[in-house]
Amino acid sequence: LVAARGLRRTFNDSPVLDGVDFSMQAGQITVIIGRSGSGKSTLLRVLAGLTEPEDGDLTIAGHLVRKGGVRTDDYAKGEALVGMVFQSYTLWPHMNVLDNLTLAPRKVLGMSRSEAEDRAATALGEVGMAHHIRSRSTGLSGGERQRVAIARALMMRPRLLLCDEITSALDPPVAAEVLSVLARLKNEEGIAVALVTHDMAFASKAADRLVFFSQGRIAVDATPEQVFRGCENAELRSFVEAVT
Ligand code: ATP
Ligand code: MG
Repeated sequence: LVAARGLRRTFNDSPVLDGVDFSMQAGQITVIIGRSGSGKSTLLRVLAGLTEPEDGDLTIAGHLVRKGGVRTDDYAKGEALVGMVFQSYTLWPHMNVLDNLTLAPRKVLGMSRSEAEDRAATALGEVGMAHHIRSRSTGLSGGERQRVAIARALMMRPRLLLCDEITSALDPPVAAEVLSVLARLKNEEGIAVALVTHDMAFASKAADRLVFFSQGRIAVDATPEQVFRGCENAELRSFVEAVT
């Protein structure tokens, strides 16, 4: 579903993505771990089209969206298949849940109110939040807000969902609820999920695949079983020991 080759991005003369090769399959959850500053968020942002890479090829669902870092004619088609959710709550506080979901599709894409509202009802159902469609976003708990944020990303019917530390501010049981939403989307909709997290328990439960990022490169790409059984990469071993 996703194939990236040689992604490169520098900030202040230091290579943050240093020739990253990365692929994702439909219906898989890939968990990305690594030290702070290793480039995890930058990778997600490049996949989402929010950060411009300096070099690299990127194919999303059969659309070559970047060639040598540059947007191709297929860029918009591929980018439309990607949704992203962030750590901090990015809902509009003064709006209810429905308006938070329908605002961008209506204003940016010119979607009709009735289509946007139909999609919102479906998306909220998928995250178990249908009963909160008229709620004010400020009245929701952290886990509920993150589920609404996922529903908002689903409005565009993405094939790929990118989640950057979306459970960092949540208690473990609430994080587990959010995780089960992602697992259901994976199983029932075949959505591919890339999830950045510092929570190794969460990572090991959620992941079909674990990717360890180090110095702008993917140092290890393995199953959680392989990683927790004790993998060969000494840097990953010490990382796992430090955080578990
Ligand atoms: P964390 O676990 O702390 O979220 P991360 O692995 O997500 O870290 P990134 O956010 O990708 O790391 O950042 C990698 C490096 O790139 C950091 O040194 C950061 O300061 C730098 N960086 C990222 N975005 C920018 C930017 N817009 N301008 C300047 N430097 C940036
Ligand atoms: Mg980050």
